[in-house]
Amino acid sequence: MSNKHTNNYKKVLDAFTREELHYISQVKRFFEWYEGDADFRTAVNAGKISSEQQKRMKQIGIHFEPREMALLWEKPEIITGCTCMTYEEMPKEHVEILKKYPLMKLWFKFILRKERQFKELCSQRFPVLNTRFENWRNRRIASAQSELGAYNQFIDHPTLAFELCDGCSVQCWFCAFNSKKLQSTLDYNQNKDFFRGIARVCTDFFGGKAAGMALLYYATEPYDNPNYIDYMKDYDEITGSPVCTSTAVGTDKKWIDDLLAYYRARTLPWPRLSVLSTKMLHKIHDNHSPDELRDVSLHMQMKNSRREKVSGGRILSRKDDMRQRDSTNYLQDVVPQGTIACVSGFYINLIKKDIKLVSPCYTSEKWPYGYRVFDEASFDTVEDFRHTVLEMIERSMPDTPPVHMPLRLRDDLICKPLEDGFDLVSPNQIHHFQNKSVFKALGELLMNTPVSYQEAGDILVDKYRQDPFAVQAVLKYLFNNGFLDETGLNT
Ligand code: SF4
Repeated sequence: MSNKHTNNYKKVLDAFTREELHYISQVKRFFEWYEGDADFRTAVNAGKISSEQQKRMKQIGIHFEPREMALLWEKPEIITGCTCMTYEEMPKEHVEILKKYPLMKLWFKFILRKERQFKELCSQRFPVLNTRFENWRNRRIASAQSELGAYNQFIDHPTLAFELCDGCSVQCWFCAFNSKKLQSTLDYNQNKDFFRGIARVCTDFFGGKAAGMALLYYATEPYDNPNYIDYMKDYDEITGSPVCTSTAVGTDKKWIDDLLAYYRARTLPWPRLSVLSTKMLHKIHDNHSPDELRDVSLHMQMKNSRREKVSGGRILSRKDDMRQRDSTNYLQDVVPQGTIACVSGFYINLIKKDIKLVSPCYTSEKWPYGYRVFDEASFDTVEDFRHTVLEMIERSMPDTPPVHMPLRLRDDLICKPLEDGFDLVSPNQIHHFQNKSVFKALGELLMNTPVSYQEAGDILVDKYRQDPFAVQAVLKYLFNNGFLDETGLNT
C-alpha cells in the first residue's frame, strides 16, 4: 500500500512488539475510561478503585493490575511532563520514577510517537498539480498559521470535502457547523457514476495524492449515508488514497466493524470516534475489545469533558469572538482553539450540487463556522463540475493580485502603526514590519481607506517617494503570505 498515512502509522506500530501493542491497547482503554467517566476519574485520583470498577476493568479487557497506573494518584505531576516530552528530555528523577511503572512508560512512548507521526503528516505538503490552486492553498496555510497559531500544526488542510448527506441525524448540542436535521442522502445506486466522475475530475486536476487529501463528509455524519463505505472504496480506487473517517455513531457495532475492516487492512489510525456521553463510552467498550480499537482515537465530547468546545455554529458566542478582542491587550490571554474547520480548498455538496471555496479561520460572527468563504458556485453534471471548478480557480485564485484588488488586510488582523513601521497582530501572533522607510509609509497607507493594490504601489512610489522595487517586494510579501483579504475578489 503506497500511502502516506500507512507508512507513517505503520512506522509507529513497528516500533513495538505484538505483546507490547496488546498492553498499549489496554492502557489506552484505561485512559479512555479515566477521561470519559468522572466517577472513575475521581476514584483513580484518590487511589481507590473499587472492587466493582476492578471487575469492570476485566470485563472490558483491561487485564493488568490497577497498581500499574498508580502514578496517576501518587505522582500525577509527572504524567503532564510525560505527555509533552520524550523520555530523553525528561528530568532524570522522573525517568527513575517512571521505571517503576513499565506500562505507563510504554504508553507514553507510544503516544509520543503517534503524536510526532501526526505532526509530520500535517506538515507534509503534497504538490497540487494545478499551480494556481497550489499557490492559493499555500497562502491559506500561511494565513492559518498566523491566525490560528500552534493549533495549525494539527490541521492537514485537506484539499476537498464532499457532502454525501444533507443535514445530520446526530444533532450534537455543540455542533460548530450548526448542521441542520438530516434531510436526505446521496443514493449510491443512482449516483455511483456521478460520484466516480467527480472523483476522476479532481484526480485529473490536482493529482491523486492531492485529490486523496479529502473528506467524504464535513458538516454531516458519515454514518447517515448507508453506502458511505462504498463511496470511500470508490474514491480510494480512483485517487489511490484512502480517506479518513470521524464518526459520532460509535455504538453501532456493524458500522464500526465495517470501518475497522477497511482501515485495519490498510494499517491506518482510523476511524476516530466522537464520544458524546459516558454511557456511549461504556457501550463502545462493551462492543469492541481493546485490541480491536487499538488504532481508533476516542474524542471525549461530553458536556463536562476537559476538551473545550469551539465557540462556533450552534454555540457561537460573541464574547469568544477574537475580532472583538481588546486591541490594547492583545496576546495577553490563552487563545482557544478557534475552529474545527480544516479544508483549504473546495467544499462540495453533492446533493445540493454547490461548491464553496473555503479555508479555516478564527470563528467569528462574520465566519460562524470557522472557515472563510472565498467563492461559491453551483453545477449540474460531471462535465459542468469540471468547468465550474476551472472557472473558480481562474477568478478566485490569482497568481498575482489583480490590479483592482483592494489592499485590505485579513479581517482578523489589527494594524498597529509604529514610529518606524507597523505591526500586524493576529489572534495568535505579532508580525513585525519595522526599520525600513517603506514599512512606515505602508503602515500609514494600511490605516487609511483601502486603495487598490495597483493604486497602493503608485501612491507609495509617487507620494511617499519609496523605491519601486522595495514597494513591489513588500506588497508581494503581504500577498504571498496570506496577509491580504482575498474574499470577495469577484464581487
Ligand atoms: S458535530 Fe458532527 S455529528 Fe454532531 S451534529 Fe455536527 S455534523 Fe453532526
